Amino acid sequence: MKIRILGCHGSDLSQPGKTSSVVFRSMGFVINDALLLDAGTAASGLTLEEQQRIRYVVLSHLHLDHIKELPALAVNLGGLIDHQIVVAGLQSILNGLKAHIFNNIVLPDFFVLPTPRRPIFRELALEPHRPHMFGELKITAIPVDHSVPSVGFIVEDGQSSWVLSGDTYATEALWVRAAALSNLKMACIETSFPDEMTELAQTSKHLTPRLLAREFDKLKNPHLPLYAYHLKPAFRERIIDQLAALDLPTLDVLHEGQVITL
Ligand SMILES: [Zn+2]
Ligand SMILES: [Zn+2]
Repeated sequence: MKIRILGCHGSDLSQPGKTSSVVFRSMGFVINDALLLDAGTAASGLTLEEQQRIRYVVLSHLHLDHIKELPALAVNLGGLIDHQIVVAGLQSILNGLKAHIFNNIVLPDFFVLPTPRRPIFRELALEPHRPHMFGELKITAIPVDHSVPSVGFIVEDGQSSWVLSGDTYATEALWVRAAALSNLKMACIETSFPDEMTELAQTSKHLTPRLLAREFDKLKNPHLPLYAYHLKPAFRERIIDQLAALDLPTLDVLHEGQVITL
């Protein structure tokens, strides 16, 4: 399984002195060139040719940093591709997309356009805890504890599996399910704020380095490769220092452009 990181931060931010206009980007992972896991970064991180290979978009929740480039994907690909792109998420997420984004006010309804018989997007409601097949990939959405309905994911291809926390505060079911997998190769756990902002992390339902360590411990697999992601770019340096101070030898921080092969 090939996982390409288009964006892995909790917002977008450029850095002084860098030539690229944006260095830190919102969430968007491409798996096996065909499935987009969250669409905070999508169209701006992929060439038109690469966008044409996308068959599935699987969304963790409705927050803008996870969906904001979905419209550009539709605009770029409308009239260009023969296939429909499956947009999958909890029913409430799909309803929210249609009510607040593709509502014929903010944007046209790409679940109906260009023609109602062959719209560019086709919705698929994910049933929590139940695996869904997307080509060769099996994805299970497990509800987590965020400020809006939100899921983490277990992604499997028959040989390897990995777990992505999604935006969450302390959670249980996702780790129980992941810990039961014999071929679990990696855990990606969000870490949005530094430890001194634990109160804000708790009210906004996110994690800090110390809280990440507590969540990782629930997997009872200390040798498992672990990646922190969804760092708020403004606090990135402090978060990274605090992550480094944790006694977690397998811990690394995801970065844009990274490709992970499992
Ligand atoms: Zn987020
Ligand atoms: Zn969120």
